[in-house]
Amino acid sequence: MQVWKFGGTSVGKPERMRSIRSLITEDSTRKIVVLSALSGSTNALLAIGESLKANNDDDAAAKIDALKAHYDTFVSELYATEAGKAAGQQVIESEFSFIRSLAGIKPFTVKQEKELVAEGELLSTQLFQAYLVEEGVASTLLPALDFMRIDADNEPEIQVTEQILGEMLPAHDDKQIIVTQGFICRNPRGEVDNLKRGGSDYTASLIGGAVRADEIQIWTDIDGMHNNDPRIVKNTFPVRELTFDEAAELAYFGAKILHPSTITPARMFGVPVRLKNTMEPAAPGTLIADRPGAPAASGEVFKAVAAKDGITALYIHSTRMLNAYGFLRRIFEIFEKYKTPVDMLATSEVSVSVTIDNTERIQEISDELSAFCTLEEPDYDQTIICIVGNFSADNEGVALKVFKAMENIPIRMISYGGTESNLSLLVHGKYKADALNALNDGLFAR
Ligand code: ADP
Ligand code: ASP
Ligand code: MG
Repeated sequence: MQVWKFGGTSVGKPERMRSIRSLITEDSTRKIVVLSALSGSTNALLAIGESLKANNDDDAAAKIDALKAHYDTFVSELYATEAGKAAGQQVIESEFSFIRSLAGIKPFTVKQEKELVAEGELLSTQLFQAYLVEEGVASTLLPALDFMRIDADNEPEIQVTEQILGEMLPAHDDKQIIVTQGFICRNPRGEVDNLKRGGSDYTASLIGGAVRADEIQIWTDIDGMHNNDPRIVKNTFPVRELTFDEAAELAYFGAKILHPSTITPARMFGVPVRLKNTMEPAAPGTLIADRPGAPAASGEVFKAVAAKDGITALYIHSTRMLNAYGFLRRIFEIFEKYKTPVDMLATSEVSVSVTIDNTERIQEISDELSAFCTLEEPDYDQTIICIVGNFSADNEGVALKVFKAMENIPIRMISYGGTESNLSLLVHGKYKADALNALNDGLFAR
């Protein structure tokens, strides 16, 4: 069994849906096919939600009509037969009637917003399943809301998925293709929820881990993980192989091709992840796996660079000597209490600097820290630049090359030595593009 995930652009046009139908049935491997919403739909649904939250009902109604018209055209072009068109139209009528009923609920709360945004994946999967039926493919649609769960901390409950899928799948042994929704899940209150933007990748990996798939394939609009952000840097190129650790660092630190948590379940169950290009299926893409004993990734030292924006740096000064043991523990207990992860850390004798990307609880954290520390004004709008490669201790000159490349860019923090595969730098957000370009020239010049 394999799990194949197709992103928004891969399902966003009728001809794309037709080509993924060919891709998934070209070989006889049984597949769970995870789909995102059609490209643009999640943004459109969120925009409708914004209008409803602002009590701008006319605006919301106009946006709903425009989105419905988009789907009407999609259906008229996707299906070849009258029966297919009728099945597709039926899906749209039913989902849009639900969307309109949601829009009528006052007040429009977060609960309704989550139901609204789930419609993107509910639409794409039902339209695709109806297309597979029209094409005579042996397939079924399993609702993700029946087996994807998150707990009170928004963490996916993979063992629940494993157990429920274990019970559900045997009834569909005769089906070659099992279609399901990415992104959406239920929370502990039983309400519709989601795995955050880009979450369909995470769904695929969670399912892949839960069913111990042979492979997880993430199909998108680019030929694999590039060595740098192709939206910002010219002359990037695909990296053919990455270890789980390297890919996890890149995803977590901003490589948009993967949701930040995608690698965690795959790594936990040792399921290889392959990144593939729907527009160019023959291209090799990127294989993410651990191959014990393999020479460290063809000897390259630097493999890729990514950047994570919207970072806040906190400067915490001890009112006593830092090396009084227990000081760091007291600081981190406060971050733990407010469920705020720390990404980077630097210490000196009397102070600690940490970075966070979630500032929701920053006031409470600052208040509690102030009881035994002095805090400087936080630095907002920082960017973590994450450089991934093979930096084992005997790899001389790694830091030198990085700093040489960065010679004209002010660096606020450095983290090196946490793993053998990562070196991170904190720079002000305004230097992000310069830093990514400078590192491309300095580390990857070909
Ligand atoms: P999907 O809709 O298929 O999930 P995404 O837009 O989420 O696709 O992710 C693919 C995009 O990620 C690419 O089009 C590319 O612009 C962007 N991207 C950012 N960093 C990288 C990287 N290091 N390698 C490849 N793509 C990247
Ligand atoms: N449709 C969702 C989003 O746009 C999830 C995904 O595409 O992975 O964020
Ligand atoms: Mg994505």
